[in-house]
Amino acid sequence: MSHYSFFNLAKKALGGHKNWAPAWRRATPQKHYDVVIIGGGGHGLATAYYLATKYGVGNVAVLEKGWVGGGNTGRNTQVVRSNYFYPESAAFYDHSLKLYESLSRELNFNLMLSQRGHLSLAHSEHEMEIMRRNVNAISLNGIDARELSPAEIKKRVPLINLNARYPVLGGFVQPRGGIARHDAVAWGLARGAYNAGVDIIENCALTGFDISGGRVTGVQTSKGAISAGSVGVAVAGHSSEVARMADLKLPITSMSLQAMVTEPIKPVLDTAVISPTIHMYVSQSDRGEIVLGGGADVYNSYAQRGGMRTIEDNVAALLELFPRFSRLKLMRQWAGVVDISPDTSPILGKTPIDNLYINCGWGTGGFKAIPAGGDTMAYTIAHKTVHPLINAFDLQRFERGALIDESAASGVAH
Ligand SMILES: Cc1cc2nc3c(=O)[nH]c(=O)nc-3n(C[C@H](O)[C@H](O)[C@H](O)COP(=O)(O)OP(=O)(O)OC[C@H]3O[C@@H](n4cnc5c(N)ncnc54)[C@H](O)[C@@H]3O)c2cc1C
Repeated sequence: MSHYSFFNLAKKALGGHKNWAPAWRRATPQKHYDVVIIGGGGHGLATAYYLATKYGVGNVAVLEKGWVGGGNTGRNTQVVRSNYFYPESAAFYDHSLKLYESLSRELNFNLMLSQRGHLSLAHSEHEMEIMRRNVNAISLNGIDARELSPAEIKKRVPLINLNARYPVLGGFVQPRGGIARHDAVAWGLARGAYNAGVDIIENCALTGFDISGGRVTGVQTSKGAISAGSVGVAVAGHSSEVARMADLKLPITSMSLQAMVTEPIKPVLDTAVISPTIHMYVSQSDRGEIVLGGGADVYNSYAQRGGMRTIEDNVAALLELFPRFSRLKLMRQWAGVVDISPDTSPILGKTPIDNLYINCGWGTGGFKAIPAGGDTMAYTIAHKTVHPLINAFDLQRFERGALIDESAASGVAH
């Protein structure tokens, strides 16, 4: 595998960029793996990467029914942050952000992490009160968060219209929040996992599990049967369908979540901004596009597209806060199928079937969690003991009523 460096880039440029080695090579399935991961999104790839590099489990395969990063990991709006309310969530998401902070160097792949700040807006006195409580809780969790006045917001985001239908009364910023390049996260982890010996098998769909005596022993796939010591599932919006193959019922609802981008313009917005009330969030990509999103479509669906109504709602909300963007053309729109749990927190760890592990329930916010999701699941699979950071996120919490209700922290309501 070529090392990515300035020197190598210059050398290859002189040769017309020929002979770059592929970032990872297509593998054909072997008869047996110690661990098989289902789903070649960020979480599946990160789990395989950490299994091989950190926890000493080398004989690992990732099975992806389409192409690497073709699911939500390649479709999201790239926001990373750790400003969560409950201590369990804060510890987990901040572990993720800290891993992101060093992952480009570790992977030798530029994830384009841009910690430009993540700003949440408040539009009423009541919202200001709740926001102050959140800022205090987040700070007590040891995470950076600071309240901003309207004047400070205007200074940071000059194009914002503070006197919108619901005037902006204040906000809070997480300075370490921001964005990272979504495709790069998938590609960098795939390259890192491949380099550590993981087989990445694309166009290979899971079609069933081999289970005997309450224990998973292998998987059936569109490319044949594979025996496995352990199986990890990280298939986001398809989690219920896949779990059903093992006779498991998950409390997951699948819905389409849309995103859209305008034509690229010069840099005008260097903070990621969200308004839960006006119901939209926006940032500017490194290519100059204004990237926006809002709530999920209001019906359940496995279709990776969305309805017109949501596009109109998102654009209308953007223009309330940024009227000047009305001059821009909307260039593209797409959707992903998100996996929403009852408390909008993830479901991570063991299942009632021995050696079968689950990672799902990210809803609209699992991109920021990819490094920590991968690290903690890899630990759990390698040690057969749940990682302390995800103890509270087990499937059984819904039976115990021990919910971790982060719906207020999940950006826009869904
Ligand atoms: C429009 C949009 C905007 C978002 N914005 C943000 C954001 O700003 N910040 C944030 O933190 N999160 C965001 N998210 C959520 C985030 O993208 C996801 O939570 C995260 O990418 C989930 O990663 P994953 O690896 O679990 O799933 P995915 O990336 O979806 O990967 C799952 C993979 O499993 C594969 N698969 C499914 N069934 C099978 C099968 N039977 N066999 C084999 N493979 C299978 C799929 O093809 C897919 O590639 C957004 C999501 C969307 C859709």
